[in-house]
This record gives sequence, structure tokens and C-alpha cells, in this order.
Amino acid sequence: MSITCDFHLHSNFSSDSDTPMEDMIQAAIKRGLKTICFTEHMDLDYPEECGSFQADIPAYKQEICRLQSVFQDIIDIRFGIELGMQPHLGPRCAALAHEYPFDFIVASQHLVGGQDPYYRDYWNGKEEQIVYREYFSELLTNLQSMKEFDTVAHLDYIVRYGPNQNQFYSYQSYADHIDPILKYIIDQGKCLEVNTAGLKYGLKHPNPEESVLKRYRELGGERITIGSDAHQPEHIAYDFAKAEAILKELGFQSYCIFHGRKPNIIPL
Ligand SMILES: [Zn+2]
Ligand SMILES: [Zn+2]
Repeated sequence: MSITCDFHLHSNFSSDSDTPMEDMIQAAIKRGLKTICFTEHMDLDYPEECGSFQADIPAYKQEICRLQSVFQDIIDIRFGIELGMQPHLGPRCAALAHEYPFDFIVASQHLVGGQDPYYRDYWNGKEEQIVYREYFSELLTNLQSMKEFDTVAHLDYIVRYGPNQNQFYSYQSYADHIDPILKYIIDQGKCLEVNTAGLKYGLKHPNPEESVLKRYRELGGERITIGSDAHQPEHIAYDFAKAEAILKELGFQSYCIFHGRKPNIIPL
């Protein structure tokens, strides 16, 4: 495996993981990883009935610092955050980005119109295509509203939850919505994440799918980050060999990792 860095990981500082950070680190060491970045959830305005996704950042930072020194000769551990964006949260997310010395900031969108598409009820009476379009246009608005991010996570996350998932989805069918997002990422010098979590849900593709990655490359996009989005030890670096094969096939020659919000380019 030549990808030895996983830059999208959760631990029990995220409310949807039970795994102590140290267990994630031990699993990463066993998998032969050299550098990992925790990216705990921070969704500042999540619908109350769906739970809270707000990490206790001071406690999280303290535990990272402790474990960085415990494991300093074995693995590099970085301090990141996954910001759940919504159009009205731009200024609050930017303030948070300045408040803490994050190594890496992941911009994510988990909601559409303030609601969580993860729940089946959400889709009642809704047309999948319309929701997907709404998701993409909101994502562009979100990215434009808050420039303090390094990568865009799971760009087509919504297709994990649609009634037909990715059956009728491809770059081509949403090109008019996806192109402006990809161009914006490139113009701003940001990265696009290849998130392998979808593969473990049986979607057979990373997020975003190969057709989107291909288009990113065609438009001149070169900067990629790679993350498993693992919430449990066994999913660390999940299917990274497949991600690597896809990226090489599409002509990508490197990926980025971050330290103090600055990229390091690692050859593939
Ligand atoms: Zn996410
Ligand atoms: Zn995540």
C-alpha cells in the first residue's frame, strides 16, 4: 500500500463513534500508516431531533496533544475538524477555524435545507433528482460562504441516502451543478477529498465517484486528499488500494496532507 496517510478519521469525540482515540491510533499503526488526521464532527446547527454533532474541542485538543507525545516516534497524529456547513453558518465556522490551531479543516455538508437526508422520512414525497440538485447548489453556496477550509469532503455524499442511491447518478447527469463546484475548488486552490466510506456501504464507488474525479482532472484539478471517514478501527484506510488504483488510472500523481493548514504533497 503506498497511501500511508488517512486524513478523515473520527473517534468518540464525535457523537457517532464509540471508539477511544487511542484505539484508532493503534489500529492505524497496525495498518502501517505513517500520518493520520482526526477530523471530529462539528455541526453547529444540527436539527435537535437528530442529535448533536458538536465535539468538545478543548478536550479533543488536549487528548490529541497527549497522544501526539505518547506516539511521537511511531506515528504522526494531526488535529483536524470536519465542519458541517450550512449557508447561515459561514461566519461562525470561520471564527472557529481561527480560534483553534487546526492542522486541517474539512468542509462537509450533511444536511439539505436544514434537514438530514440520512433518515428515511426525509425522502417522503420528495423527488430524488430535485434533492440531489438542491444538495449540490447548497454545497456551492456553503463553500463560497466560508473560505477557511482545506478540502471538500465526500462531494456527492447525498447519493448514499437517496432511495435509489447512485443507480441513476453520474457526473454527466448533474454536470451543470457539479462543474461550478469543481471550478470553485480549483480557483480557490483547495483540495477535493476522495472518501472511501461509500465503498464499505456497498456503493462500489468512492465519494465522489470516478466520473467526478475524472472531470476534476480535466478541469485542471490536481489537489486531492484521501480519507476513510472511519468511525471504527476496522475501517481505517478502508479500500485505500482501490482509491490508489482509481487515482492513478485517472492520471493523478500525488495527494496532499496538511500540517498547520499547509499542504505537503505526497507522490502516489
Ligand atoms: Zn461527513
Ligand atoms: Zn466524517
